[in-house]
Amino acid sequence: MVKAERVRKRFGHLEVLKGIDLEVTPREVLCVIGPSGSGKSTFLRCVNHLEKIDAGRLWVDGQLVGYRQRGEVLHELKESEIAAQRRDIGMVFQRFNLFPHMTATQNVMEAPNRVKGLGRKDAESLARDLLGRVGLGDKADSYPAQLSGGQQQRVAIARALAMEPKLMLFDEPTSALDPELVGEVLDVMKQLALDGMTMLVVTHEMGFAREVGDTLAFVDDGAIVEIGPPRELIANPQHARTKAFLSKVL
Ligand code: ADP
Ligand code: MG
Repeated sequence: MVKAERVRKRFGHLEVLKGIDLEVTPREVLCVIGPSGSGKSTFLRCVNHLEKIDAGRLWVDGQLVGYRQRGEVLHELKESEIAAQRRDIGMVFQRFNLFPHMTATQNVMEAPNRVKGLGRKDAESLARDLLGRVGLGDKADSYPAQLSGGQQQRVAIARALAMEPKLMLFDEPTSALDPELVGEVLDVMKQLALDGMTMLVVTHEMGFAREVGDTLAFVDDGAIVEIGPPRELIANPQHARTKAFLSKVL
């Protein structure tokens, strides 16, 4: 679903990704941990075409998205191909960004209705099903302001699922939540993983990474320092930087 080979990204003089090598296979849950500013969000944004890579090769869903060497573009997807890929990738951010003037159902049915052209009736019934799936069947007609942060984030997940994505990207989806609301969001993500969704998850929830993740990557300073099965990486980190980071989050 995702393959990165020596992917680099810079903003001006700041090199943010310094050669990322990574693979996410179908149905795999890859968790990414690492200090703030290490390039985690930037990598997700490259996968989701919100940023272009500066060097290396990046494949998404089997398609070579970008191939650059020494600043030269050797391959790039067309705008229409990028748009098609973006429809197949769901993304959930730290902040839920729901439309405040729309109910939960309206938030979820918006994209399938507008982007996919699904009729309003079908889009609404899809939205209600998805809200049921994230445990919010009884909140379908509530507005975001009437929902807790955890409930809003579950609506955001349902909204992403409404486009039937092949890949879900999560960028610290529980970091902005009060601690007592984190579990309900992680439970939904866990169920999604059990249902076979391919997921790339930036999180500092080590319990989730250990239990649900197939693979755990520790990123520091724009590079993957260590990657492997979560239990092994957590129990027996090989690098001093991984050890130091884990001692802060465990
Ligand atoms: P993380 O998600 O690991 O905290 P980010 O990928 O958000 O890290 O950011 C990595 C570095 O890139 C940070 O120093 C950040 O300030 C910088 N950065 C991110 N986006 C931009 C941008 N659009 N322009 C300039 N600098 C950016
Ligand atoms: Mg980030």
